[in-house]
Amino acid sequence: MSGRVKFCDACKIDFSTLFRVQYKKQKKWVFVCRKCLLIFKKDNPAYRYGGTWKK
Ligand SMILES: [Zn+2]
Repeated sequence: MSGRVKFCDACKIDFSTLFRVQYKKQKKWVFVCRKCLLIFKKDNPAYRYGGTWKK
């Protein structure tokens, strides 16, 4: 992992802790914040959790 700042893929805000998830049909791994994670997780069969990233 690089030490650069990561941004939430959905709301584009930088967080010190992000969650690696898949939430689209494309099966691409992205980083999202906790708030967005909870939104994507809900009723989403494409959702997969891939770990937590900390600054
Ligand atoms: Zn977010």
